[in-house]
Amino acid sequence: MSSLSDEPSGNPFESPGFWMKGNLHAHTTNSDGVLSPESVVDYYSSYGYDFLALTDHGKLTRISSEKLLLIPGVELVSGRSFLGGDYHVVAINVEDEETLQKHAKDSVQTLLDYLKENGFAIIAHPYWSKLTAQDLFNITNYLGIEIYNTGCDVEVAKGFSTIHWDDLLTNRINVYGFAVDDAHWYSNLDAPGGWISVKVRERSLSELLESIRRGLFYASTGPAIVRFSYAAKKLEAEFSPVRRVDVVSENGTGFSISTDVYNIVRRGPGVPKIRIVKTERNEDGEEVYAEIHNRTIMFKLVKTGLSYIRLEGFDFKNYVRLEVTDVNGGKAWTNPVFL
Ligand SMILES: [Zn+2]
Ligand SMILES: [Zn+2]
Repeated sequence: MSSLSDEPSGNPFESPGFWMKGNLHAHTTNSDGVLSPESVVDYYSSYGYDFLALTDHGKLTRISSEKLLLIPGVELVSGRSFLGGDYHVVAINVEDEETLQKHAKDSVQTLLDYLKENGFAIIAHPYWSKLTAQDLFNITNYLGIEIYNTGCDVEVAKGFSTIHWDDLLTNRINVYGFAVDDAHWYSNLDAPGGWISVKVRERSLSELLESIRRGLFYASTGPAIVRFSYAAKKLEAEFSPVRRVDVVSENGTGFSISTDVYNIVRRGPGVPKIRIVKTERNEDGEEVYAEIHNRTIMFKLVKTGLSYIRLEGFDFKNYVRLEVTDVNGGKAWTNPVFL
C-alpha cells in the first residue's frame, strides 16, 4: 500500500506547522487557457493562495514569482480506458517534458513509473475521463486522484470523482483525494473553486512537496476542517459551520447527520434510529448528545450549522474519511484513515 513517500501518511490536523492553500491544476495561454502565466499567478495570489502548479498540456510553463510558491507541472494524455476515454495525468514537480511525452506515448504505466521516481502523479478528473474503478485498479504508482475538478463540474457537471475514490479505498489502494480547478477561463467561472490546504512547518517547496506526499492535507471547495481523528473507536472532527457531516466508510458502516435531519428528529418521530439523550445550551449554541443503536453521538450546533462531531462505538470497516458540506454546497474532504 503506497503513499509513494518514505515517511508514513500522517494526520495533518495533529502535525505541527501552518496551512498553505494551493491549486495543482491550471492552464495558461501556453496551452488552452485564456490568461498568461503571469496573470494566472496574479489571479490566484489575489485570492490568497500560497502555491500553484501551472499544468499546461504537454508543456512545462517556466516562470518565477515572488507572489506564490510555484511547483512545475504538466498535464499529459496517455492510454485508453475501458469506456474509450484517455487517462489524463497531472505530473507534479517535473523537469523534463520531452521525457514525459515519450513515456506518455509508450503507456500510462510507464509514465507513472517514471513519475514515481521523478516527481509525482495525480490522475486527473476520472469521471470526466470516463475512467471506471477498474481502470484505476489497473495502474499503480500515482499519489492520488482528483476527487473534485472545478472545470469539469461547471462545464459538463462531471466534477466529482468521490465514488472512484471510495472504490479504490475499499480495495485498500491508499491514494489521496485532491480538489483542483483545472482552470482555463478564470474570472470566477472555473476558478477559484477547488484547492488543497497543506500542513507545513516552513514555507519551502521541498517541505510543501513532502507534506503532499505524506498526505498532510485536506481538499476543499469552501469549508475549513480543523480537526479529524479516529482512534480506539472514537472519531472526532471539528470544522467551520456546515449543513451536513458525512463519515464515509465501507459496507454501510458510515454515518451522516445534517441540520435538516436534526430538525426532523427534534420535532418528533421521523428518524427512528436517532434518539436524543440530552441537549445543553451555551453561549456558542447547543450541544446535542444522542444515541443510534446504542452508539454515542455528540455534535455541536452553532447559529450557522454543525461545527463539531464525536462518534463512539461505531464499527467502521477498512477505512474512514470525513466529508462536510456547507449551506452554499461547498465541500471539504479529509484523506482517509485506514483501519
Ligand atoms: Zn484533462
Ligand atoms: Zn487540465
